[in-house]
Amino acid sequence: MFDLNSLLRDNIKRLVPYSTARDEFKGEASIFLDANENSFGSPLPVNYNRYPDPMQWKVKYKLADIKGVPPQNIFLGNGSDEVIDVLYRSFCRPGVDNVVIFPPTYGMYEVSANINDVIVRKVSLTPDYQIDMAALQEAVDEHTKMIFICSPNNPTGNSINRDDIEMILNNFDGLVVVDEAYINFARQKTFISELTEYPNLVVMQTLSKAWGLAALRVGMAFAGEDIINVLNKVKPPYNINQAAQDLVLVALDNIVQVNEWIRETVVERDKLAAGLISLKQVLEVYPSDANFLLAKTTDAKGIYNHLVAKGIIVRDRSKVELCNGCLRITVGTPEENTVLLETIAQVPVTA
Ligand SMILES: *Cc1c(COP(=O)(O)O)cnc(C)c1O
Repeated sequence: MFDLNSLLRDNIKRLVPYSTARDEFKGEASIFLDANENSFGSPLPVNYNRYPDPMQWKVKYKLADIKGVPPQNIFLGNGSDEVIDVLYRSFCRPGVDNVVIFPPTYGMYEVSANINDVIVRKVSLTPDYQIDMAALQEAVDEHTKMIFICSPNNPTGNSINRDDIEMILNNFDGLVVVDEAYINFARQKTFISELTEYPNLVVMQTLSKAWGLAALRVGMAFAGEDIINVLNKVKPPYNINQAAQDLVLVALDNIVQVNEWIRETVVERDKLAAGLISLKQVLEVYPSDANFLLAKTTDAKGIYNHLVAKGIIVRDRSKVELCNGCLRITVGTPEENTVLLETIAQVPVTA
């Protein structure tokens, strides 16, 4: 049985959250002398002298419309990376509790665990990059608080079988965190629609990838209201700055442009995959539901260095488990992809 209260750290259960100046005041006012701000303004064309809304309601209402979830079921972090950190700090006792991750996967689950002194249990993906369900069962114990599932997975690009995720949601009493950073490019549908079904589900998304707002640092978590309330209590009060909130509101009105780029990216991804596999330097291109491709090459280091020398940067994943010889390549513009393919083709193939 899932019981949020029994998952929470005792110090968080007892925590009295920071009360901001604006939390304590309710109603209308025109003179604000409660927060020690600069009452004269900012040395900028636009004023940023007032603290931002700690709950980011305007942004959440607009996101609620787009995502089809109530605003109370949305948490915003300074990037998904902050969401991951706040999850650890809320639920995992340092040195006692553990989480399960499925390598090769996104690096921050482990780094953030290490920062918080949370034990990481690694259950390697199978050779076809799916979850080894038997090994997962072995890895989980009474101190396992969270299971991180990255789908589509970074760096492999594939989606994780939906049936397996549902099986985990139905049988694990801790939190199941499904990281959907690349969901906009996937054939799979989002797990957001399952939130009412599973009280232990946390879906993470981000504005850093398809939405083209990586520099603004806005990540999202969607979950039951009780989970969202915990995260809000633990986060730094003003974790999304005013400039980011203002710009996100403008960007969210441009969904037509974003959807157009998503379509273009998927077309380019499939063209790039075909181009790569036709090169003798490339041995395999793995199926991708994301905006990048994982390609197994004859000589990852050599190709990587040649690309760098020509001013092209890709990600060398060849030292990562199950990714021998692999480069992870983000889908670029058509022109960028053409230059990439021409440049890889210049690398001598050593038998
Ligand atoms: C890029 C990425 C993120 C996004 O992180 P932000 O902090 O929101 O920029 C999250 N998860 C995965 C798997 C990613 O690849």
